[in-house]
Amino acid sequence: MNLDIVGRKIISCTFCDLCRSRRLAVPGEGPSNASIMLIGEAPGIEEDRTGRPFVGRAGKLLTYARDQSGRNREEIFITSIIKCRPPKNRKPKAFEIRSCLPYLWLQIKTIDPKLICLMGNVSASAVLNMQGVTAYPWTDLSEPLPYHIPSCCCSQK
Ligand code: SF4
Repeated sequence: MNLDIVGRKIISCTFCDLCRSRRLAVPGEGPSNASIMLIGEAPGIEEDRTGRPFVGRAGKLLTYARDQSGRNREEIFITSIIKCRPPKNRKPKAFEIRSCLPYLWLQIKTIDPKLICLMGNVSASAVLNMQGVTAYPWTDLSEPLPYHIPSCCCSQK
C-alpha cells in the first residue's frame, strides 16, 4: 500500500471518537523513501487546523533540532501515534491508540526507514509496549532508543 492511500484512509477514518472533535486528521508528511521517521504523540491545535504535522510550538523545536543536525526535510517523515487531536490536548486514551496504531504500522512498513525516533513517553509506550521512557533498558543499544525532542534541543546548547 502506498503512503497516499494510507493518508486518504486516515483523513476519512471514523474508527474512534476523535473523528467527531477533529477539524482535520493529520496523516503525516515526508517522502515515501525517508531514511528517518519521527513519531510524536498526537496533533495539537495548529496541526488540527492545518492538517500538517509539527507546525506548532513543537514544530519550531523540531525544525531547530533538524537544522542543527544538518538533516534536511527530504530525509524525514514526520507523523504521530494518533492522527487526530484529542480535545484540549489531553493524553490519548488506550482505545484511541489501539484504533490508530495500524495506520502507523502501515506507514512504517511502506517507508521502511533506517531510523525511527519516538518522541516522548506516549510514543515510546505505544510502539515499544512499555510503561515509559524511564523504564527503558538503556544498556541495550541494539534496540530503538526513545527520546524527547525538547531534551534533545536542550542538549544542543
Ligand atoms: S485518531 Fe486514528 S483511529 Fe481515531 S479517528 Fe483519527 S485516524 Fe481514526
